Amino acid sequence: MDNVLVTGGAGYIGSHACKALRTAGFQPVTFDNLCTGWEDAVKFGPFEKGDLLNRERLDEVFAKYEPIAVMHFAALSQVGESMQEPGRYWLNNVGGSLNLIEASVAAGCKNFVFSSTCATYGEHDNVLLDETIEQHPINAYGSSKRAIEDMLKDFEGAYGLRHVIFRYFNVAGGDPEGEVGEFHRPETHLIPLMLDAIDGKRDALTIFGTDYDTEDGTCIRDYVHVCDLVDAHVLGLKRLLDSHDSGIYNLGTGSGFSVREVISQSRSVTNREVPYNEGPRRPGDCTKLVSGSTLAEKELGWSPKRSTMDLMIADAWKWHQNGNYTK
Ligand code: UDP
Repeated sequence: MDNVLVTGGAGYIGSHACKALRTAGFQPVTFDNLCTGWEDAVKFGPFEKGDLLNRERLDEVFAKYEPIAVMHFAALSQVGESMQEPGRYWLNNVGGSLNLIEASVAAGCKNFVFSSTCATYGEHDNVLLDETIEQHPINAYGSSKRAIEDMLKDFEGAYGLRHVIFRYFNVAGGDPEGEVGEFHRPETHLIPLMLDAIDGKRDALTIFGTDYDTEDGTCIRDYVHVCDLVDAHVLGLKRLLDSHDSGIYNLGTGSGFSVREVISQSRSVTNREVPYNEGPRRPGDCTKLVSGSTLAEKELGWSPKRSTMDLMIADAWKWHQNGNYTK
């Protein structure tokens, strides 16, 4: 079985990617420092604890497994935190990725799948976002991801490192079989926070800003199911292995939901009230981020199967009630 090095494989999206890789006949090798990930989530292949800032450790792991490709998920990923501590984002995300990319090239591994973000686009008045739209990130998280995209292009030019870059919209839901799920400590994302509020695990949800220029005043996001998202990664990997072409793809559904709409759907899926209050805007939040591209469908044959809001909330709710990690 061919090895694929999965950085961040102990995290939310990385662990779902490991399951999808395993199902597709690859062996996922998780490389993770467990700063936000969980060893319990590493279920589908070997685990190598390590930090991307430690080049020697990376070289060791590349030598041990000789991966045919890298899937790079490991990153700090909170918009709000990135505005307060930008240095950590530049060091961990950009510095860590530089180490990883250099280690990959040095080991002769020239297929690279990278998890980027729609936060690289920034504010664009009422436009659906496709891959050609100019990137003007308005938070340090988006800036750090954009810098890594640039880095990949430079390394392709110099060393032939082929890459598929995925710009995620808002990832939600969980493995319907319940083997892995979303579990952040601390949690900052809308849907899991809302589910916590619904069953009393924490205080009411706070809506961050009700004065945005949208119909109901709250931010609009495009939500995509984590299982659909990782399926696209496997398709991207196969494209790299087969055709050796680099590419950049949005991963979203093209449908936008406001925070209030997500709350109301959650009420109907769970049949419970959602306790919430209204607070000020969170620095760094864009008004609206919705994909306007079907390039992944056209070029990769991607076809999202679970990305309806109801299913995403239902899968997250199922995991929320039964699943967790302890280490
Ligand atoms: N949000 C909110 N209250 C929360 C967490 C998030 O109102 O406690 C809003 C946030 O402002 C954004 C949307 O929910 O408009 C999604 O935020 P999340 O942090 O889940 O993802 P992001 O868009 O930052 O990647």
